[in-house]
Amino acid sequence: MTAQHQRASKQNMGLNKQMSTNSDLLARRDQAVARGVANMHNIYAERAENAEVWDVEGNRFIDFAGGIGVLNTGHRHPKVMAAVQEQMERYTHTCFQVMPYEPYVELAERLNKLAPGGGPNKTLFLTTGAEAVENAVKIARAHTGRSALIAFNGGYHGRTMMTLGLTGKVLPYKAGFGPFPAEIFHVPFPTDVHGITAEQSLAALQNIFKFDVEPARVAAIIIEPVQGEGGFYVAPFDFLRKLRSLCDEHGILLIADEVQAGAGRTGKFFAMEHSGVVPDLTTLAKSIAGGIPISAVVGRAEVMDSVAPGGLGGTYAGSPLGCAAALAVLDVFEEEGILQRSMKMGEHLQGRLRAMAERWDCIGDVRGLGAMVAMELFKGGEHRIPDPELAKQLVAAAAQRGLILLSCGVFGNTIRVLVPLTASDALVDEGIDIMEACLGDLAG
Ligand code: PMP
Repeated sequence: MTAQHQRASKQNMGLNKQMSTNSDLLARRDQAVARGVANMHNIYAERAENAEVWDVEGNRFIDFAGGIGVLNTGHRHPKVMAAVQEQMERYTHTCFQVMPYEPYVELAERLNKLAPGGGPNKTLFLTTGAEAVENAVKIARAHTGRSALIAFNGGYHGRTMMTLGLTGKVLPYKAGFGPFPAEIFHVPFPTDVHGITAEQSLAALQNIFKFDVEPARVAAIIIEPVQGEGGFYVAPFDFLRKLRSLCDEHGILLIADEVQAGAGRTGKFFAMEHSGVVPDLTTLAKSIAGGIPISAVVGRAEVMDSVAPGGLGGTYAGSPLGCAAALAVLDVFEEEGILQRSMKMGEHLQGRLRAMAERWDCIGDVRGLGAMVAMELFKGGEHRIPDPELAKQLVAAAAQRGLILLSCGVFGNTIRVLVPLTASDALVDEGIDIMEACLGDLAG
């Protein structure tokens, strides 16, 4: 190691650095960083371990956010860290299109086997969730020779232009950024608690076929089996089956966006497995690699191969570090029984949230699939008026007491739990106890 490297690495360890405070960093951030990137908390991370994070001032936090669903196997899982370190000793980048490497191929083989439907499947790797969705759309268009796309209100698919077009929420994502790609149509997502039934949703889809675009022009319907940013609404399994048969009837592809719901969050590796519905294409990202950026499109080989050589790829797409991390994550799933843990944790979380709902009538709905669990907050006991203010206050109060919480939902009134599935029962309970204490303060 050169002296320069040694200095840099010491600085990285914080040994030469003066301790920063959260308020110093906020002031610097305000001067240096674009305003459009919002921060949920002005708490600057210093280090993290499994389901706990410490800030630059030495405060400890329980992490119920997992960096928005990226850490199902926890921060810095030792197996994942070791795999990435080992990969770093070999090579960090060649670009798969220039000089391919085994971890990419092996990860594709393993995901192809895991994906619902029995195959044959093929896989493409990218870097972010949005990029995976973009590529799923490209593949669907190439396969069908059609252009139109149908997505859902409240759906979230990313911040690039195509994925913003697919995203079904204007504020804060879409406002000011249009026009978006043409021929994208939105349908209400079935949300019992807001009185939207699966039948109404299917009727809206038929309306699109009648009034907007003929089914023979539709390339794909994209759906999150459990909406993430939209509010943790679980798509009814029968609704997914009906979507599948509608797609089959009209030669439309079904894309499952499992960027947030996938990788074991719902108790199955792919959330679609719960319904028995096999999509043509699935997008994955976030928790597949335990904190290292990589995303994937997995799908029927015949569909995936519709694009000619050269039509897909990217400089960093399927980076060796991401592949190594994801392979280790898959091992951790097997060795530590993460799927069973996800189911068990989900039951426990729902049980605790339901007990809270009995105590506080502002909690109008508790729902989830596996450990993808949320509660929705309303004003008063009637559960008609969403209470985003209370959600905001709860998130802020929880942070004060050492719990990082995330809200979500089209009304901003849902509190979601994305705690690592590797968290201990005691830690999860400690987190829920903080939620209870905060609600006690806020809602009496
Ligand atoms: N799809 C879904 C379902 C997501 O939840 C997200 C991210 N929240 C994305 C796509 C976009 O992923 P990324 O932020 O990695 O581009």
